[in-house]
Amino acid sequence: MEITPEANEGRRRGLSRRAAILGGTGIAVVSAAGTATATDEVVTYRSPTYRVSPMPDTVTAPMSVRITWHTEAPPTLTAHLTFDDGPSPVWTPRILDTLHRNDATATFFMLHEFIKGHPDVVRQVHDAGHEIGVHGGDHTDMTTLEPAQLAGILSTTRHAITEITGVSPTRMRPPYGRLDAPVLWAAHQAGLDEVVLWSHRTGGSRQEAQAALDHASSGMIILSHDGRSSVNDAELDAIGWLLPQLRARGFSMTRLP
Ligand SMILES: [Zn+2]
Repeated sequence: MEITPEANEGRRRGLSRRAAILGGTGIAVVSAAGTATATDEVVTYRSPTYRVSPMPDTVTAPMSVRITWHTEAPPTLTAHLTFDDGPSPVWTPRILDTLHRNDATATFFMLHEFIKGHPDVVRQVHDAGHEIGVHGGDHTDMTTLEPAQLAGILSTTRHAITEITGVSPTRMRPPYGRLDAPVLWAAHQAGLDEVVLWSHRTGGSRQEAQAALDHASSGMIILSHDGRSSVNDAELDAIGWLLPQLRARGFSMTRLP
């Protein structure tokens, strides 16, 4: 196939954008060269659909990943609680205590970098009857990772959780809620068949928690945090305030169904 100069330039631009996202050396190449140079030509080209259809030829059987923002309204008023970015030896036990006091269970989406350091906290979460899902290796935006690399990270994280709890996670939540088709593909490769986002959040203040309460609906999925720099006393206070409020309105609070 013949490549016109215009198309070729478009190819270089497409590549440089991706290189910029990845923080690779492509930025230096582009800014130093400005226009087409021999250096540009040696870089392996990837089609613009690369992030859309990883390895399409290898799919020969039904393949799907479910994405959930809000569950189908359960017959009794139910709010699903989720906590991201743990486990943390500081915050997770405090959250567990809050959940226990409110007769609530939750789903925790954990990061491998903290699972490795705090397997005892992972076990504590599991033993208290909560669900554990995968949030990734560290908190990198998954859409910037190579699909095969991401599949490896998700698989490693999943197995680390399985080794500690004896239960294999089937759900994952990508950091920042950012995902694209290759992220979904990687999740599937790693044995995760559901991506869980959220419909409500506690946020870091009672005002935000009040907004979640004002718009509460059965099947709602509430996002909160129990680790990294994402949680603080204000968020813990917001959660501690919101749960009894939900209970007073007739909601039970549970992990994902
Ligand atoms: Zn997160």
